Amino acid sequence: MSGTLKRTVQDAFDEPACATNRAKSATARKAGCAKPLTPGAAAGGCAFDGAMITLQPIVDVAHLVHAPLACGGNSWDNRGSASSGSMLYKTGFTTDLTELDIVMGRGERKLYRAIGEIVEAHAPPAVFVYATCVTAMTGDDIVAVCKAAAQAFATPVIPVEVPGFAGSKNLGCKLAGEMMFRHVIGTREPAHTTDTDINIIGDYNLSGELWQVKPLLDRLGIRILGSLSADARYRQVAQMHRARVTMLVCSHALQGLARKLEETYDIPYFEGSFYGISDTSAALRSLCALLVKRGASADLLDRCEALIAEEEAKVRAALEPYRARVTGKRVLLYTGGHKTWSIVSALQELGVEVVGTSVRKATDNDKARVIQVMGTEAHMYENMAPRDMYATLKASGADILMSGARSQFVALKARTAWIDVNQEKHEPYAGYMGMVDLVRAIDRSVNNPMWAQLHRPAPWETTRPAAPGLGAAEGADGPGAPQANDCASGQDRLAPGEPADTANPADPADPASDFEDC
Ligand code: SF4
Repeated sequence: MSGTLKRTVQDAFDEPACATNRAKSATARKAGCAKPLTPGAAAGGCAFDGAMITLQPIVDVAHLVHAPLACGGNSWDNRGSASSGSMLYKTGFTTDLTELDIVMGRGERKLYRAIGEIVEAHAPPAVFVYATCVTAMTGDDIVAVCKAAAQAFATPVIPVEVPGFAGSKNLGCKLAGEMMFRHVIGTREPAHTTDTDINIIGDYNLSGELWQVKPLLDRLGIRILGSLSADARYRQVAQMHRARVTMLVCSHALQGLARKLEETYDIPYFEGSFYGISDTSAALRSLCALLVKRGASADLLDRCEALIAEEEAKVRAALEPYRARVTGKRVLLYTGGHKTWSIVSALQELGVEVVGTSVRKATDNDKARVIQVMGTEAHMYENMAPRDMYATLKASGADILMSGARSQFVALKARTAWIDVNQEKHEPYAGYMGMVDLVRAIDRSVNNPMWAQLHRPAPWETTRPAAPGLGAAEGADGPGAPQANDCASGQDRLAPGEPADTANPADPADPASDFEDC
């Protein structure tokens, strides 16, 4: 790792705005926040991947990955961020280095040429160049190439020096914020400013979630001047230094950037969430209060209260038909960050019981919020292996698992309904109306008539009279026919005439007993 990168990583570890970090000793701070990996467990993405998912939602920028093909392919568009305009961010650009390029030291030349081709073909407002493990190890000076290319092609070319080996995906997200602070923020002035200009940091407009919130801000006359990086344009990042207030949606990775904006440009920030009715209202209140403090007209507070009252009434009326259908359902939540508590409180508002929530990737603040909304830390889980998740689903009697796509097969195996609440999801659940969409998804999933059929015993699990002359061990259908002890049922073989235990085919004492493959 180069000295510059080492210093950048160390600075990211030493985040004074992070309460967890402040509580650590100087030695512990040096070691950073990454936990040692469990052998055999997925690592969850490299630092380059983290930088890419943080910045790729900037929709009009050309994102050029300086690497052999696979780095770009592995990280391409793995979040469903939506755009209201340019679709350039959906084009995967890479220098596609070959072995020969590396041996012959042609990386820098190839990069320069690639930037030129992109500018000529697409004329983007900026090109972001991502370093990766290979090009960092071959020593390609991407900062120098970007500088030369920016002058030659009269276009900002931004080096994102976050190679994969620098650390975890989370660190990559932090460093992406740092790159924007160093190279982009403050480089352009907005055509005009207002007293109600804000930055939103840490939202990525996943499946269009920002569009469920923006109409509320529009009605209050609040303008999203800067965005990192929900439906963002390059200029929206470049002019972030002129906003009056910053809202930090994801409380962890980009906190350092919010702090630096406050220290350098005097822009106060607060952490909030747009998941759930009460959290959306709280976020709007905090936003308006801070704006008024910074000079916006005091009537903003009254207009905010009027809007909240109207929207809450509207959403509660829209939720009413679903209440009886979802109240009392039990949910196991396996997600991360602020969603660990914001979705819990959203579900509780509807009488849905949350039997447990994961607190992996959650900060101490997030954990404190979980205890606040759930009353106890008894239902908080760290990382769960699939087997443990299966056992928890069975033991808790959960009706539904809400998680990322990787856990959906555990739910399938446990014959439990599943809803995607992670970054790859296809439905937006933010803001007031997002809550209605979420409840509709829960209702659709958990009350699907398919579950009754699925939980009904299979035909071979019911008792049949044994054929004369055949022993119990071979059953009525003869040798080789499906037997009552096949792993689908998990039961012992039935004696002739013995009724099958159709109510509970698995061993109730061992919730994981039927998780084994055949
Ligand atoms: S080679 Fe490095 S940068 Fe590329 S995907 Fe693998 S860890 Fe990430």
